[in-house]
Amino acid sequence: MPPREWIFLECSECGTRYYRTTKSTSTMKQAGKLELSKFCPKCRLHRPHKERKK
Ligand SMILES: [Zn+2]
Repeated sequence: MPPREWIFLECSECGTRYYRTTKSTSTMKQAGKLELSKFCPKCRLHRPHKERKK
């Protein structure tokens, strides 16, 4: 198993951290900062979510 790091995905609008995920260190080297479009329950919309370390 490659080393993994826990990260949170934080809504770029309201700052809600609704998603927690892991990513492998190999992915981290490739992509840099992770940004995903996820559903935010507070905004009730899909928003870009940026990674935040805990
Ligand atoms: Zn939000």
